[in-house]
Amino acid sequence: MARREYATESIVVRWNSERCIHTAICLNALPAVFDTQRRPWIDASGADAAAIAAAVEKCPTGALIYERTDGAAGEPTPATTTIVPWPNGPLMVRGTVEVRDARGKLFDAGTRMTLCRCGRSGNQPFCDLSHRLAGFRDNPRVIDDGRESADSPSDVAAAPGP
Ligand code: SF4
Repeated sequence: MARREYATESIVVRWNSERCIHTAICLNALPAVFDTQRRPWIDASGADAAAIAAAVEKCPTGALIYERTDGAAGEPTPATTTIVPWPNGPLMVRGTVEVRDARGKLFDAGTRMTLCRCGRSGNQPFCDLSHRLAGFRDNPRVIDDGRESADSPSDVAAAPGP
């Protein structure tokens, strides 16, 4: 497991490799900053802090977080906590999230998480992409139950998916 920090005078970006499931959402959102062909793969000087913050907030797993060190506001907490199944993949949770163990002890907290849905993850309760090897498939109703609906997260449509 690696935890790394990438800082400028305006922002600190933190990346937790254990939570990253390589969705490439960050790479697509801001390639000047996130580029796996480069070392280090995050260049926090590659864009202004607001653009970096916006890209980090797209990371569905919480592998990326940031702290503004220029006095600007940090990541807003969504007013509503939502749980959305990624088709044939994890549950995407956004909101005020605390994950606790069976005895109630705090395990992790954040605003973005992807939780295992296939039961095969080696990084429970988080997704580690094991659903792909397991051949996990949704009941089609989970993806679209036919009702007119509310928003679907744009990340789901835009990303190749975990
Ligand atoms: S968006 Fe998050 S989970 Fe996806 S590749 Fe980037 S850091 Fe990893």
